[in-house]
Parts: sequence; C-alpha cells; structure tokens
Amino acid sequence: MAMKISPKPVTVGFIALGCPKNIVDSERMLAKIAQAHFLITAEPHNADVIVINTCGFIAPAKTEALEEIKHAVECKIRGTVKKVIVAGCLPERLGNDLLNQVDGIDAILGLAHRDAIAQIIKETLSSSRPVAYLDRQQQTILDDRTRLLITPPHWAYLRISEGCNHMCSFCTVPAIRGPFRSKPKKLVLAEATELVRAGAVELNVIAQDTTYYGHDLKLKKDLAALASELEKIDELVWIRLMYLYPAGINDKLIDTIAKSKKILHYIDMPIQHINDKILKDMRRPDSKKRVSRLIENLRQACPDIILRTTVIVGFPGETDQQFNELLEFIKWAEFDALGCFKYYAESGTKAAKMPSQVPDEIKQQRLEELMLTQQKIAFAKNAEYIGSTLTCLVDSVDNKGTGQGRFYGQAPDIDSVCIIKNCSAPHGKFIDSKVIGTKDYDLVVEQI
Ligand code: SF4
Repeated sequence: MAMKISPKPVTVGFIALGCPKNIVDSERMLAKIAQAHFLITAEPHNADVIVINTCGFIAPAKTEALEEIKHAVECKIRGTVKKVIVAGCLPERLGNDLLNQVDGIDAILGLAHRDAIAQIIKETLSSSRPVAYLDRQQQTILDDRTRLLITPPHWAYLRISEGCNHMCSFCTVPAIRGPFRSKPKKLVLAEATELVRAGAVELNVIAQDTTYYGHDLKLKKDLAALASELEKIDELVWIRLMYLYPAGINDKLIDTIAKSKKILHYIDMPIQHINDKILKDMRRPDSKKRVSRLIENLRQACPDIILRTTVIVGFPGETDQQFNELLEFIKWAEFDALGCFKYYAESGTKAAKMPSQVPDEIKQQRLEELMLTQQKIAFAKNAEYIGSTLTCLVDSVDNKGTGQGRFYGQAPDIDSVCIIKNCSAPHGKFIDSKVIGTKDYDLVVEQI
C-alpha cells in the first residue's frame, strides 16, 4: 500500500514590534496563523513567510521597523525567507509609499485586515506581485478574544478600546488608528474572563486613553464602572489601569481605585509637560494647577499610590525657562517612575509645522538632565523600601533559585522589577517578601 506523505507545513516567523496595543494585535494574528495550521517558528529569518507587525508612531519606531523589514528582505534575497509581509501602524501611516520605500516587500496590511492574516499569507504565497490590503472601511472595534499570548500566561494586556479622539498636536496616533471606539463592556468582560481562565492573575488595562472608555457608547466616561465589573472575576487578583489621561481622572475613579482590593494603587498618567503655554500648544486640556491638584488628591485618597508619568522635552518653542519649570515640577511631584522622550517632528502633525523647533543637541541635554533628576528621586524612593515587606508576583525563576517579580508598584515590561533571592515559588505565584537592598532601579527582595 502506498504511503501518503503529508506536505511540509508552511513555516511563519513573526516579529512583534511596538507598544502593548500592538502586542495585542500581534497576539491575535499569531492565533489566526496557528488556527490556519501554519507552523510558527522561533527563527523568523529562516521561515517561509516572515510577518512583521510594526509601529510607526514616532521616528525611532519607524527606523526600527524599517531596519527589521530591510533585514527580512535581505534574508529573502539570500533565500532563507520566501515572502515578507508587513502589518500594523507603518503600512497604515505610509500606505503604498512603503512598497516604494523598500523594494522586496510582498504584502502590506493595515489594522482593519489584522484578522485576515492567514488568508493574506495564503494569497501572498501564490502571488508574484506585491499586494496592499489597506482600506479602512472595516475600521470598527476589533474582537481581541482568542489570542496566542506573547506575555507569560499569568499576566496579559486587556485592550478596552481602539483609536483616540484627542488631537494632541505632536501625535500621529489618531491619524493612524482612527477615532476612539470603546469595546462593548460585554466583550471586554468576556475577554477578561477568557484570559483569567487561561491563567492570568494580572490584567493590564490599556487604550490610548483609558479614562475615555465608554464616552462614545453614551455611557459617559465609565472606566470606574468597567473596573468594578472586572473586580468580580474571581481568580483575577491584580487589575492595573494604564494610560490615564490626567484630565480624565475624576473623583469617582479615584474613589473606586482607593477602595478597591484588586484595582492596584498604581496610576500611569502621561502629563507630557507642565508649563501652561506648552500644554496649550500641545493641545492638552491640562494646566499646571490642575495636574498639581490631581497629584495631591490622589496621594490624599490613596497614600500608597504609585505614580508613573511620561514627559516630552524639546517641544517646539520650549525655552530654558519652560524646561526648568518642568524640571522643578518633577522634583516637586516625585513620581515613582517616569519616561522621558525627545520631541520628534512627525509629518502630518500640527506641531511639526510650528516655528522654533528645538535643536536636537538641546533636546538631548534636556532629556539627560531630566532623567538624572528622576534617577535621584527613584533611587531615594527605592532606599525607603529597604526593610519593608511586599507581596510579589513571580515572573520567572532561574535554575539557581533567583527569581524576578514585581510588587503592585511595578508594571510589567516598563517599570523596574524585584530581584527575588531564594525564590521557591514558580512563576505566576504571589509570594511575601522582604526588601533587603536595591540594584540600580530594581529592588532586591528575599522570599519570607
Ligand atoms: S491622547 Fe494625545 S498623545 Fe495620546 S494617543 Fe491620543 S492624541 Fe496621541
């Protein structure tokens, strides 16, 4: 009897770039690829098809994405890869120009075509011409259930909306990702339940502005109500709210966070700047007075609140005086964690056309000065933890028994971590620990 030989499966390599919102898209695409019986390989540059899910938000992200694409095309020329597919924000931003910029790409797809990735791979394999899947008509809210997680199973991102309705003058996101669309509450809760059933004990709630949740569904701004619903999921232990637009943080939300045992006393609120004129030019509705009061209110309502923020230095027209005002504010506010970015003039934004663009070397000096100031604050805060006890979620453990984990004040993949000595618990478990020292930005703890 003749033996039937199965055809060799097509291998797909996947490179996931960009922010947590993009990671969710990547996870969804990976699930679609696996469901279509392609073989996902850990060696993307030796795969039949390489898919790169890109970010195109600011210049460094664009550069990183273009380098990855060019590397993939080189592999195609060498013969280790057959087809190169580029997905995500960069095709959304550059459109067909991307095909002209890099010769050798076989397909590009925008965000609305994410769920069709398996079909697009099939079509690309049998096509000899580059194809663009870019129309935006389907740009509705996407269902993010059924994902192949890139994150460890014990924590996951929960995206509650897509797009952004704010018009910050420096930002390309609304042009790339469209207007704000809340995911219906039922869908968010179903997705959260699915992630928790699969082992997640920590959900990191993300959106471009999480405080805007529900606004477009005529639910008013309803993040507090959504978070309260999430709390009812039994096995879920930590709910972390990320990307809170300061102007959207209201008393109801502060009260909900303060009273909750599951919603972490952790707020990530990008302030971007503090000088009123710069904020106005950035088209942010905040003011120094309001942000200062908000920080005081948060600390009063929640004395153990951990505050993280993001700022931009070198915005057009930023004077030494305005930068120093930001620096003084950072000293006053004593954020627990802070990300600082140089301003990049992105084409298509209002700020890119503003006069008085700041030279790059000044931006760099300001960035370094601000980060050094923040470093002192962070190190002093870390020293205060020595001797205290913290509940840590173990993220990983090496074969010598040294673990890595986080207490509630450390968001995954962005903040510092706890280095756990003598860790006997596996990843995904909570442990009690005592802080015995610090290492740079990290805390060194010992399992109790
Ligand atoms: S809030 Fe502003 S900075 Fe954030 S995504 Fe929306 S437009 Fe961009």
